[in-house]
Amino acid sequence: MISKALETFAEDIGLKIENDCAYGDYKGYMITLSEKGNKRNVFINYYLMDSESDALKKFRLSESVKSDMSKFGIKEFDIDDNGLSAELIDTISKLSEYLDILIEKLNDEDIVGHSNCSECGKHNNSDTKYKTVSLNQNRYVLCDSCTLNLIQNSSKMEAEKKAEDTSGSLVLGILGSVIGLLVGTAIWGFIASLGIITMWMGFALALLIYIGYVLFKGKKGKTRIIVISAVSLVGVILNSMSSEVIKVFKLTETVLDKFLISPISHIQVAMEHEKYDFTITFIIALLCAAFAIIIFATDILKDKPKPETIKID
Ligand SMILES: [Zn+2]
Repeated sequence: MISKALETFAEDIGLKIENDCAYGDYKGYMITLSEKGNKRNVFINYYLMDSESDALKKFRLSESVKSDMSKFGIKEFDIDDNGLSAELIDTISKLSEYLDILIEKLNDEDIVGHSNCSECGKHNNSDTKYKTVSLNQNRYVLCDSCTLNLIQNSSKMEAEKKAEDTSGSLVLGILGSVIGLLVGTAIWGFIASLGIITMWMGFALALLIYIGYVLFKGKKGKTRIIVISAVSLVGVILNSMSSEVIKVFKLTETVLDKFLISPISHIQVAMEHEKYDFTITFIIALLCAAFAIIIFATDILKDKPKPETIKID
């Protein structure tokens, strides 16, 4: 949404008002005005070549904007081959004044506006009406073939973005996750031997398995989730059983040392013990592990790259 004040100004100079911006032809240039809180954004679309003389024009333009920064409340600006954008924090009248100054500078430097395609520089004569293309809100003047190129490139980029990254090694990933499992098992066993409730260790165990997998550069994509889930499941079963065994031994006042000397026979003794039941520990630990896997291994918290929004007015 743009404020009433900006809307009035934009209407005065003949721009089209949209929900989140105003755009249109202003003194021979395609401009876009938008707002975010108290910051107003001006974007002026033009055409510059990737040449030495145009690089000099860009440099002079940038130097002159720099010298105006404090006077017009310019927070930041960006000058590239097909447009200048500036962020201003000041009144609308200052913005209006500065817009005219910028356009004068562009004229002085012979930087062309919507008379040419801002991508290839082709002259837009009366029978080749230009297209106004919005790319993430800002409007660009493009000829037909550049518009087509842009649309084709963007659908190609979308397809590349969607393709899953499956780099990395499966063997190394499994090795790393097993090392994570061993470290987690040692910690889980130690905590159980202190008589502390260990169910939450499911979370830590799955996290350690995940870290091991990533550190060893395991294969990315779905394989990663499958391996981490499988190793975590095995780990949770083993550890919830053994932690209950350790607990039973503590209840029956049997010393842990004995367990360490002959674990198998002691597990048998524990399992025959009436207090031995690892179901609850297993279920809760499994839920904790699943929680860790969802958070870390599925990248659910990662910011997805925003797709470019291309629109032809
Ligand atoms: Zn073009």
